[in-house]
Amino acid sequence: MALVTVSEILQRAEEGKYAVGAFNCNNMEIVQAIIGAAEAEKSPVIIQASQGAIKYAGLDWITGMAKLAAQQAGVPVALHLDHGTSFEQCMQCIKAGFTSVMFDGSKLPLEENIAETNRVLAVARAVGVSVEAELGKIGGTEDDITVSEREAMLTDPQEAKEFVERTGVDSLAVAIGTAHGQYKGEPKLDFERLKEIKSLVNVPIVLHGSSGVPDEAIKKAISLGVRKVNIDTNIREAFTNTMRRVINEKPGEIDPRKILGPAREAAMEIIREKIRVFGSSGRA
Ligand SMILES: [Zn+2]
Repeated sequence: MALVTVSEILQRAEEGKYAVGAFNCNNMEIVQAIIGAAEAEKSPVIIQASQGAIKYAGLDWITGMAKLAAQQAGVPVALHLDHGTSFEQCMQCIKAGFTSVMFDGSKLPLEENIAETNRVLAVARAVGVSVEAELGKIGGTEDDITVSEREAMLTDPQEAKEFVERTGVDSLAVAIGTAHGQYKGEPKLDFERLKEIKSLVNVPIVLHGSSGVPDEAIKKAISLGVRKVNIDTNIREAFTNTMRRVINEKPGEIDPRKILGPAREAAMEIIREKIRVFGSSGRA
């Protein structure tokens, strides 16, 4: 199959009340792990790449791998830009063949975030590409912040309503207490806030920083309207920890396949587990 849009995948998720995993890739093994997991679970899947991943692997390589993966797969596959922070980056990805982009204007004042999101939307709409936007600030787990600072970073429900009405984005990433990276303690999600946001906006909600959030909390968030769940850190952990284990066990091993092969397996396993938690198994 050719790559499909994230909107198409999330539309079906909305109807079925489940969520679809958006898994970050930056090399061939991880792309294969994502596709292998989706096929084994018969689940639609979103492959996403950050600006850092694009810088590392090259835009054409990421696009090429995802297109090939989609062509060979028996499940719907979308290719999404994760946290595009400029109009230019979004345009480069659209031109290369991404079927979805996130414009992350969360660091901008509200009016500028709306204006820049609309600039990206105007082009994306014309060529049938989906757009995700972010409102509120999804911090990093390394950020040392107080309770009031945390409160200020979370998505304001009324602002979310205004933002969606004035942009018409396809999906909205919200800050409800998750963070990017490895959590030190257990993350506390603001479910009341999520419920209120969902009652005010009629687009699928995206949860970032979902690695390390307990399965039950993820399931609850899905029951309250989350339809796209981003996972990066859990894949990095599985992949790199396996490489480290193999190298420690066999210090003389020089065949990359003997090191990366098990890492790819481990990544695929964790992705399959996530897909089952999100409820998208058997939905392809
Ligand atoms: Zn994110």
